[in-house]
Amino acid sequence: MNTTFIDTHCHLNFKRFNKTREQVIKESHKKGVGIFVVPGTDLFSSLKAIEIAKQDDSIYVAIGIHPHHTFNKEASNTMQDDMNELEKLITHPKVVAIGEIGLDKHMYEDTKYENYQISDEFLNAQKEYCIAQIRLARKYDKALILHNRETKTEIIDIINQEWCEEMRFRTVFHCCEPDEDLLSYAQAHDIYIGVDGDVTYGGEKSSFIKKVPLTMLVLETDSPFLLPEPLKTQRLYPNTPANIPIIAQYIADLKGIRVEEVAEVTTKNAKRLFNLNK
Ligand SMILES: [Zn+2]
Ligand SMILES: [Zn+2]
Repeated sequence: MNTTFIDTHCHLNFKRFNKTREQVIKESHKKGVGIFVVPGTDLFSSLKAIEIAKQDDSIYVAIGIHPHHTFNKEASNTMQDDMNELEKLITHPKVVAIGEIGLDKHMYEDTKYENYQISDEFLNAQKEYCIAQIRLARKYDKALILHNRETKTEIIDIINQEWCEEMRFRTVFHCCEPDEDLLSYAQAHDIYIGVDGDVTYGGEKSSFIKKVPLTMLVLETDSPFLLPEPLKTQRLYPNTPANIPIIAQYIADLKGIRVEEVAEVTTKNAKRLFNLNK
């Protein structure tokens, strides 16, 4: 298969794709999206990502516990139990990263948790999980997929505290918020910037991405979320990795370069990030 693009972040492990997964993968391959990195958000979805990857050569996996799922949990697992479970999964040959992990202070309206609040305890749980999982990634020399929403100062504090030189080129700010401080921090630490379909909505995101050097960018869809335009206006949900070329073309136009250059450089970046030799 001819790999032009890599979708570095798509949740093909989510229920939303149970009936369509094979078709979506096939369509994506046709569009030149030859490799997918599927991140977990909890133990269940991490395990499911591995199950899917076992059946498809083009799928790689990130395992991890998303900040949302570090508190109010249904299971009675302690953090140490969760880390032990992740450590059992991490040696699977398709696991290339820990993710998605991080911090999130955004108040979501649509969550499965009742009375969703960002309490100090919740934020502390997020920080503890984030730190423990960064250490796990380092122990096994895996890449890091960092999710960060409205927590710039806190996440930078944690990265500073846990920093080691091996994290250069092996870390990504997935769906990076448009923020100059994050960009200069990423530049100083060789952290990649993940860009999604929301860049096509214009505004702040698009002027931010225009400033990010191509050598720092990796493409992601965050499928089934963040459907790019014009598909969003056309309500062609859900988002799938087959839409990566739309994001790439938008970036090419934004930067006044050819889409082939966007493909070539972002694919090279993604391979370095996840240590993929394909
Ligand atoms: Zn995320
Ligand atoms: Zn995600």
